[in-house]
Amino acid sequence: MADEQHLPKVEIWKEVCTSCGACDDACPTDVIRMGEDGFPFAKYEEDCQGCFICEWDCPVGAIRIRVARWYEASRLP
Ligand code: SF4
Ligand code: SF4
Repeated sequence: MADEQHLPKVEIWKEVCTSCGACDDACPTDVIRMGEDGFPFAKYEEDCQGCFICEWDCPVGAIRIRVARWYEASRLP
């Protein structure tokens, strides 16, 4: 089992985000929630499956899923 540093990472750029909530609505594992500041955040990042749906659904490219280290770990013997 991969350790925590190898799990997918959710990155959100508030400078670009329009607070539309599409990523919150789209996430199938309910990782993303809208914060009190009006911006999304990864409340349950440990549940992220690296599916990229939030990234694809964001209309302004404000969210990115980083899976490189997670992917590399999955290939270790
Ligand atoms: S990559 Fe998938 S599981 Fe992870 S936060 Fe985005 S929509 Fe949710
Ligand atoms: S879908 Fe994009 S613009 Fe909309 S709340 Fe999420 S990160 Fe912000």
